[in-house]
Amino acid sequence: MSDEETTKTAPEPVKVLICPVCSLPAEYCEFGPSFDKCKPWLIANAAHLYPHLVNPDGERTDGKEEAVPAKQTGKKKKGSSEVPKILVKVESRNKKKSTTTIIGMEKFGIKLPEASKLMAKKFSCGCSVVKNNICEEIVIQGDFADDLLDMLKDKWQISADAIEVDKAKKKDKGAAAQ
Ligand SMILES: [Zn+2]
Repeated sequence: MSDEETTKTAPEPVKVLICPVCSLPAEYCEFGPSFDKCKPWLIANAAHLYPHLVNPDGERTDGKEEAVPAKQTGKKKKGSSEVPKILVKVESRNKKKSTTTIIGMEKFGIKLPEASKLMAKKFSCGCSVVKNNICEEIVIQGDFADDLLDMLKDKWQISADAIEVDKAKKKDKGAAAQ
């Protein structure tokens, strides 16, 4: 007969929780005369009806706050996932002499003595591996920042994004400056 209907609508037995304190259905306690007294029983037996009683912070989950952290994830993350960088630093000792220092090549698995030799050959200049307290670096006599970018890219497939150039102002070569 109406078997299907009965299975479909098979009413889940709605249990009406009656509060023993005010003898109202639990969901009406807050409208009842003794809500404060009902609270302990409600928390214990009808917490789902009054989530804010159990978790006062629950009221703040209105969605507004979720948007904020979402924005922040768009920012650069500091820490574990940071990409290693090579620093190419050009320093002028005096008007005519500058040095180019390359720091961080070893992070890319490049052997500094080897790289130093290659650079010396390529740039026909003095080039050495210098060890300081913090790390080892390659120091080239002369300003080879631009050539280095090319070399790092060609020789070791290091993209320009991974290279930071720190170039001090130079006074002698005013060519491009003005
Ligand atoms: Zn009650």
